[in-house]
Amino acid sequence: MNKVLIANRGEIALRIVRACREFGVPSVAVYSDADEAALHVRRADEAVNIGPPPAGKSYLNIDAILAAAKETNADAIHPGYGFLAENARFAAACRDAGITFVGPSAEAIEKLGDKAAARRLAKEADVPVVPGSDGVASPEEAVEAAERIGYPVMIKASAGGGGRGIRVAANEEELKRSVKEAKREAEAAFGDGSLYLEKFLENPRHVEVQIMADHHGNAIHLHERECSMQRKRQKILEEAPSPGISEGTRANMCEAAIRLTEEAEYTNAGTIEFLVDGDEFYFIEMNTRIQVEHPVTEMLIGVDLVKEQLRVASGEPLNVTQENILANGHAIEFRINAEDPDMDFLPSPGEISALEVPGGPGVRVDSALYAGYKIPPFYDSLIGKLIVWGVDREEAINRSRRALCEYDIEGIKTTIPLHLCLLEEEAFRSGEYDTGYLERLLGEG
Ligand code: ADP
Ligand code: ADP
Ligand code: MG
Repeated sequence: MNKVLIANRGEIALRIVRACREFGVPSVAVYSDADEAALHVRRADEAVNIGPPPAGKSYLNIDAILAAAKETNADAIHPGYGFLAENARFAAACRDAGITFVGPSAEAIEKLGDKAAARRLAKEADVPVVPGSDGVASPEEAVEAAERIGYPVMIKASAGGGGRGIRVAANEEELKRSVKEAKREAEAAFGDGSLYLEKFLENPRHVEVQIMADHHGNAIHLHERECSMQRKRQKILEEAPSPGISEGTRANMCEAAIRLTEEAEYTNAGTIEFLVDGDEFYFIEMNTRIQVEHPVTEMLIGVDLVKEQLRVASGEPLNVTQENILANGHAIEFRINAEDPDMDFLPSPGEISALEVPGGPGVRVDSALYAGYKIPPFYDSLIGKLIVWGVDREEAINRSRRALCEYDIEGIKTTIPLHLCLLEEEAFRSGEYDTGYLERLLGEG
């Protein structure tokens, strides 16, 4: 691997620039017209403009990105998360162009990217899945499946992601209507209207397992992350270890994650998402990429996951073995979004007039913000992540409050005040929260 092009923007692009520098390989940033002044552009060794602001014309433009790689002689592409990260066609196009895709093979993405197909694979690997159907082609088929599963049911897009394209139906009438709507929406959003059903679990927890596998037959798990603090099925904060599962569930879930990794012949970093209901856990999907919340695991275990990704993509064996992975203390990540929590989370792009960033023991900030930076209105509202480590959960929480108070972003609205409120909530402090908790708290559930 001689040079890595980063097909992304924002904090994750900067995170990858940092990993490349430590790994000793130069990096190439790509940017749209809206991102000329972005920090990832300044920090990378080279940068190439790939088009106009709309993602479809720049960050999702496979031809423009491959041309940028060719022009700069980059022989590897890291896709980050979102955009083209889970696009099997992109992974295959990289390979056909003689470029190493820093991620799993196109075949593995294909196998796991379709969520209904991933369920089938999980079953083959003896991994429990939420009771459901593998695919429903029509409202009539959906009704038949729902009668078997039992209401309420969840309707999901096979190609879905980012919490979108999901609906709940309490009865036959709602289901028939929802299937039609969901199909249309999935076609528009993902270019694929395929749907499947799952039993709707009442107030489960979302717990996921980070895995990593190399090309030498090593597949390891790096423990779990608790991601139940959600709004609109999107994560708001994440922590590890999960405060809500038993040692037995944790061990079984991590073993199940390894079984699926091996069954899929998966390589590089990935996350296997589960829902937990009491002592039972059920596979929901696999994210075939690095995730937003990967720093939680990095803080807990002391492994640089992005550098491991580069190592694996270079054909080297993993730097860590299952035996020498030890979870230490407690880590929490707070997603800082440019949104107004008092105005229904209305996006709040604009200029950062002043910025003060927290520091001190156990504090990490992953962000591409700087004072004077103008957040463009075209992309995801995630502008930073505060990750805090403590010797135990209590220290992590107290340190988080201290660090969030130090974090001062002027000129726009952010989700920092929401996080400060959450830290005072009994349900968070006790660790007894589920995926419906935050919406109930906000009066949305
Ligand atoms: P994570 O667990 O890493 O947060 P998410 O599913 O929330 O995973 O996705 C991470 C990022 O990728 C978010 O910015 C999300 O909006 C985006 N994303 C994920 N899947 C899709 C998709 N199918 N289409 C568009 N954006 C997506
Ligand atoms: P996405 O691909 O959009 O990330 P997921 O299948 O991972 O979709 O589900 C996103 C979230 O939706 C979960 O974290 C959970 O909060 C909720 N969810 C998913 N499936 C179920 C289910 N069967 N019952 C209850 N909640 C669910
Ligand atoms: Mg998910």
